[in-house]
Amino acid sequence: MENLTDTKTVLVTGGTKGIGKAIALEFLQLGYEVVINYSSDEETALATQSEFNMLGYCPVLICADVSDENQVREMFREFFSIYDRLDILVNNAGISLYEVIQDTSLDDWDRVFAVNVRGMFLCCREAADKMIGSGGGCIINISSVWGEVGASCEVAYSASKAAVIGFTKALSKELAPSNVRVNCVSPGIIDTSMNSRFTSEEIEDLISQVPLGRLGVGEDVAKACAYLAEASYVTGEVLPVGGGFAK
Ligand code: NAP
Repeated sequence: MENLTDTKTVLVTGGTKGIGKAIALEFLQLGYEVVINYSSDEETALATQSEFNMLGYCPVLICADVSDENQVREMFREFFSIYDRLDILVNNAGISLYEVIQDTSLDDWDRVFAVNVRGMFLCCREAADKMIGSGGGCIINISSVWGEVGASCEVAYSASKAAVIGFTKALSKELAPSNVRVNCVSPGIIDTSMNSRFTSEEIEDLISQVPLGRLGVGEDVAKACAYLAEASYVTGEVLPVGGGFAK
C-alpha cells in the first residue's frame, strides 16, 4: 500500500466502542488519519468502521490484543506499512473488574494488569522510537478517577489505573527531551458498556454525586484528548474529566 505522509496520524487502542470510539471519531473530524484497534468483538468493530464510512471517513481497523507482545509488534508493523508517521497514540483499551478482594483470583488480577498496564507499556515501547525519530509525538493514556481516589470492590482496577498515572509521569520525563509529550486523561463515570452492571437506581445515586449532574459521555473524554493533542507545553499531567466527581 502507498505510504501516506502528509496527514497527521493517530492510533486509538480499544477504539471500536465507548470512549475509544468517541476519541476515534473526534480525530477523524479533526482531519487525522485514524487507526482503530480492538481485540475480540469483530462484529462491533466492523459496525463501527461502517458507521464511520457512512460519515465519509475511512479509518483502518486492526485486531490485536494489546496485552500480547507479538500482537502489539504486528499491529505497529501493519500501522507503519500504511503510514510512515505516528503523531498520536491513545492508550484507551482497558477492562474493569468488580469484585471484593477475597474473590479476586490471581488470574483476574493478572488479566486486569495485563490489559490496562502491560498493554499501555507495549504500545508506548513500539511508538517511542518512531516518535523520537520523527522529532516528536504525543501519547495519551486513559486512566480513571478510581486510579486517583480508589474504588471499593475495584482494587485491581483502581491499582492498575493508578499505575497508568505513575507510568505517565515517569515516561513524560524520559521522553520530554525528545519532544514527545505523555499525558493522561482521568475520566469519571462515563456512560459506556463498562458501566452496564449498574442498576438504574445505582446510576441515579452516582449522578447525585456528580456536581455537573450527569454521567459523562465518550465525547467529553474525546474533547480532552483533542486538547492534549494540541497542548504543546503540557506533559506529565493528569486531566480529570468527571464533571467534578470525587473532588
Ligand atoms: P468499553 O466500552 O468496554 O470499550 C473497551 C474497548 O477496548 C473496546 O473497543 C474493546 O474491544 C477494547 N479492548 C478491550 N480489551 C482489549 C485488549 N486486550 N486489546 C485491545 N483492545 C481491547 O470501555 P470504555 O468504558 O469505553 O473504557 C475505555 C477506557 O476508559 C478504559 O481504559 C477504561 O478503563 C477507561 N475508563 C472508563 C470509564 C467509564 O466510566 N466507562 C471511566 C474511567 C476510565 P474488544 O471488545 O473487541 O476487545
